[in-house]
Amino acid sequence: MNQLFINRNCPVCDSTSCLENDFVNPQYDASENYELAKERFIGFSEENVFFKYSRCKCGFLYTKKYFSPNELVNLYGSMPDNVHSGDYESEKRTKIYYLDFIIDYLPKNAKIIEIGADNGAFALEVLNKRPDIEFTFIEPNLEMHSELKKISSSIYTDIFDINNIEKKFDFAIGIHVFDHIVNISETILKISNLLKDDGKIFGVVHDESSTLASILGKRWPAFCLQHPQLYNQNSIDFFLNNFKLKKIFIKPTKNFFPILYLIGHGLRVILKKKNNLKGGWQLPLYLGNFCFLYSKS
Ligand SMILES: [Zn+2]
Repeated sequence: MNQLFINRNCPVCDSTSCLENDFVNPQYDASENYELAKERFIGFSEENVFFKYSRCKCGFLYTKKYFSPNELVNLYGSMPDNVHSGDYESEKRTKIYYLDFIIDYLPKNAKIIEIGADNGAFALEVLNKRPDIEFTFIEPNLEMHSELKKISSSIYTDIFDINNIEKKFDFAIGIHVFDHIVNISETILKISNLLKDDGKIFGVVHDESSTLASILGKRWPAFCLQHPQLYNQNSIDFFLNNFKLKKIFIKPTKNFFPILYLIGHGLRVILKKKNNLKGGWQLPLYLGNFCFLYSKS
């Protein structure tokens, strides 16, 4: 029989013991409500369902139970085709803004490996400013590969398919991916092995210690089925130091939203009024995300 869930130790220190009074409980625990969790995962439910987040004694926040690897494949396979609901202009603005954090650190003719490259939109922004750069993409979603092939012929579905000796990268980039990866410790080790001696890793993640997270509690959108762990600035520093990666910076990041979308969202949440408002001025908002840059040397 297909095993639905796995039990996890702390991905950072491998401990099983957690603090007794520091956790985030969902309204419905995914490990006890599989059908509901499945509906929520594939986008057919709005219920507050996720796996309980526990805080390890080392400070790391993670779910002790999560979907098994087989079950994750099933779930992603059941998802309807991605309907693009976002706003291209604001996504573009956000990506250019991320690029500004690292552009001065990118060496000439840099080789970048982007994990979770999606449709390659970030890479295109990089190449727009720096055509000398060469990309390798990791993207498990095969439907994205035709778009990615227009940018690079070096595409993998799994980072573990790359030979350590074969490729040495100047930069690894993961934008909103490190909260999604279940075997995160093995993945960071793999990334570190793929980097040159002075290689760097850049990421953007949610901040579970942000004001927004404490105000919203279990309603904070990043407490969700897609995130087997969440970081704060201290826990990611402790985590990456384990791999002898050294901090260059950790900085809070903004996201850009068109003002009419924000008004429409407010109307939906507060007055429960359906609407399709979009466009207008781009407003930068701090939503409790941060970016980090670490170096191997
Ligand atoms: Zn731990």
